Amino acid sequence: MLSSKQCMELEAQYGARNYKPIPVVISKAEGAWVWDPEGNKYLDCLSAYSAVNQGHLHPRIVKALEDQMKTLTLTSRAFYNDRLGKYLKKLCEVTGMEVALPMNTGAEAVETGLKIARRWGYRVKGVQKDHAEIITARNNFHGRTSTIVSFSNDPVARDDYGPFMPGFMTIPFNDADALEKAITPNTVAFLVEPIQGEAGVIIPDEGYLTKVREICTKHNVLFIADEIQTGFCRTGKMFACDHENVKPDMVLLGKALGGGVFPVSAAVTRKDVMDVITPGSHGSTFGGNPLACAVGEASMDVLIDENLAQRSAELGAYFLEGIKKIDFPLFKEVRGKGLFIAVELKEEAGGARKYTELMKEMGILAKETHVHTIRFAPPLIVDKETIDWALEILKKIFT
Ligand SMILES: *Cc1c(COP(=O)(O)O)cnc(C)c1O
Repeated sequence: MLSSKQCMELEAQYGARNYKPIPVVISKAEGAWVWDPEGNKYLDCLSAYSAVNQGHLHPRIVKALEDQMKTLTLTSRAFYNDRLGKYLKKLCEVTGMEVALPMNTGAEAVETGLKIARRWGYRVKGVQKDHAEIITARNNFHGRTSTIVSFSNDPVARDDYGPFMPGFMTIPFNDADALEKAITPNTVAFLVEPIQGEAGVIIPDEGYLTKVREICTKHNVLFIADEIQTGFCRTGKMFACDHENVKPDMVLLGKALGGGVFPVSAAVTRKDVMDVITPGSHGSTFGGNPLACAVGEASMDVLIDENLAQRSAELGAYFLEGIKKIDFPLFKEVRGKGLFIAVELKEEAGGARKYTELMKEMGILAKETHVHTIRFAPPLIVDKETIDWALEILKKIFT
C-alpha cells in the first residue's frame, strides 16, 4: 500500500492543482470516521461537502448499489430502464414537486434549471427571444461550469474564464427589497441557495425566503432553490426551505442524493414548467442511469427511515451550543442550522487554515472556506458521544 506521503507526491506530480487539500490521505471510511494509510483515525467534519449525509458506506446504500450493479448499470435514455420511473416518483414525493429531470453532478442540475427557466420565460411568460434575465445572489456558489461562474463574484473561481454568459445579474443575499427592485419584465427566475454554503454557512433572516416566495409569485418569476448542499436533512429539515414552509417553483438537488457513493443530481419542478422541455432539447448519457436510480432511492429511504432530519436538528443544536461555549476571543461568529455549522474567525486570527491543520493533527477533518471560516458538517449519523469528543478537542485547540 502507498504511504500518505507517496499518495500526495503522486497527486502533486500528475494532478492539476485545482485543489489545495488538507494534507491528509484517506484510504478507508465507515460512518462518520475515516482512516489514513498509516491507520490514523479522523472524524469527518466535512462529509464531502455534505454529499455523505448518510455516513460513509451506509450498508443499505452500498447494498442497493451492489445489487443493481449485478443486474443493470447503464442503458442511456435511448431506451427505458426499469428503475427510473420509480426513483423519479420518490424524488417528487420527497420534494413535493411534480416532475424531475435526472442529471449527475450538481453543476449539471443547475445548468438544467437555468435552461428550463429560460425556455419557460420565452414560451410561457412571453419574454422576447434572447432577452431572459436570471437574478442570482452575491457570494453564491452554484458550481463550476463556464455559465455558472459567469454569475459568481469570486475572483478565484472566475478570473480569466471570460467572455462570460450574458443574462445574469447579482443582488445582495438576504435582501428581499433588492430582489423586487431588480426584477424587470424580462426576469424569468431568481436562483438562490436558501442558506449559502460555500460562502460560509450564511443564514438569511427569518422571513427572507417567505418574502422571496411572495415577490416571485407577484412578478411571475420562478423561484429556484439550489438545495444541493442544504438539502437532504443537512440543516435539520429535509430541505432548508422547509424551515419557513416555503415551496419554490424548482428545487436543484445533488450531493447527498448520491449517498456518498455515486454522483446523482436532479432538477425537480412543476409539470407546467417542465413541459417546455421536449425530446432532444436536453439530456445526459448517464443521467437517470439504473445505478444512480437505485442509489438515489436508497439514499432518500435512509434519510427518512433513520429520521436524519430530526437527528441533524438535535445534534446540530447541541454541537452549536458547545462551540459557542468555548471562550475564544478570536471567534467572530459561531452560527449554524442543524449540523451545518460555521465558525468565523476574526481577521487577527490570521486565517482558518492553521486551525484546520491543527484539527487534523488532533483527529478532526474540516475545511476552511473563504480564508476565515471553518465549516463543521459531519455525517448526520454521528452520535452525541462523538460530538462530545470533538468538543473536547476544539476546546483544547481554541484555548
Ligand atoms: C456543491 C454545490 C454545487 C455543485 O455541485 P457539483 O456536484 O460539485 O457540480 C452547486 N450548488 C451548491 C449550493 C453546491 O454546494
